[in-house]
Amino acid sequence: MSVGLYEYVGAVHVHTAFSDGEGAISEVIAAARAAGLDFLIITDHNDLRAREYEGWHGGTLVLAGEEVTRPGGNHMLALGITELIPPDVSPQEGIDAAKAQGGLAFVAHPFYQGSPIIDDPPLPWRDWSVERFDGIEVWNLTADLHQLLGERGLERPPGEVLGYAAPNIAALRKWDELLARGRVVGLGGLDAHAERVARWGDEVILPYEKAFRALRVHLLLRERLQGVLDADRSLIYRSLAAGNFFVGFDYLCPAAGTAVVALTDEGAIPPGEGLSPGGEREVELRVSLPYAGHILLIKGGMVVSEAEGEEVSFRIAGAGPYRVEVYREGRHWIIANPIYLR
Ligand SMILES: [Zn+2]
Ligand SMILES: [Zn+2]
Repeated sequence: MSVGLYEYVGAVHVHTAFSDGEGAISEVIAAARAAGLDFLIITDHNDLRAREYEGWHGGTLVLAGEEVTRPGGNHMLALGITELIPPDVSPQEGIDAAKAQGGLAFVAHPFYQGSPIIDDPPLPWRDWSVERFDGIEVWNLTADLHQLLGERGLERPPGEVLGYAAPNIAALRKWDELLARGRVVGLGGLDAHAERVARWGDEVILPYEKAFRALRVHLLLRERLQGVLDADRSLIYRSLAAGNFFVGFDYLCPAAGTAVVALTDEGAIPPGEGLSPGGEREVELRVSLPYAGHILLIKGGMVVSEAEGEEVSFRIAGAGPYRVEVYREGRHWIIANPIYLR
């Protein structure tokens, strides 16, 4: 990449037959390899057996965490942990348990209102008094899709279901609200299950490989992965915790090659990082896209600037988080983590 960062593309929040996913872990890993993922993070419900499969499988690094899964909501992705976190602890205790293990805690599908399509009850995050979590899913491909399809009625949608996919607007709003108080990472998760939709003749509407090609986490790193499990796992988790990535809806348009960076004398600063330009000095925030898009610069939940194109520079000044969303054809394409001016 021209800005001197290395891009790695992966899928986060994936279920296998170790919990309620349809695919055996070997099939899920094969699908990730076929989709060309650099990394795959499996998070089965209250289960860590996938850890035995951690490591490089061809060009795909497989990692495993847990989705701490409680009845009625408060689901949490615990990544980088070695001991199961029981679901009967409070949300704060679950977060603290993940952090105590040196792990990460992400709030999963925080505004999921359920769906009659798959007879899911509402499963939102209910306890916003919690602290010290790393971030929230601003887009959960499966949950948000089921909710949107459910809101449109039970008829089988015409054509391609991913034509309906969109991030959760309530989650994006909540993210901006949380960002007003401090650093929070915005994550795109798949919640891939390859589940059969009974109401639609048991059809699998979102097979694993299709999900892995559709919504991806694109890490932008200063270092390369080394092909060594321990070093690479820690680099990927550090970068996820820092928010050194954007979420790309690659189904709509391939997002690889995108850069959202602050340009400084010391080089390009990736999303998730902070810089102190001093006083009201301006910083150049550069957005480079592989295809033209409609680019929004967002601060404090407000669009403070917008532009159309493939290469756009914004001038930012004044403390706060500055984040970028890019649209194509009126739909969300790219959601980048903020760059924080201090
Ligand atoms: Zn869940
Ligand atoms: Zn899940």
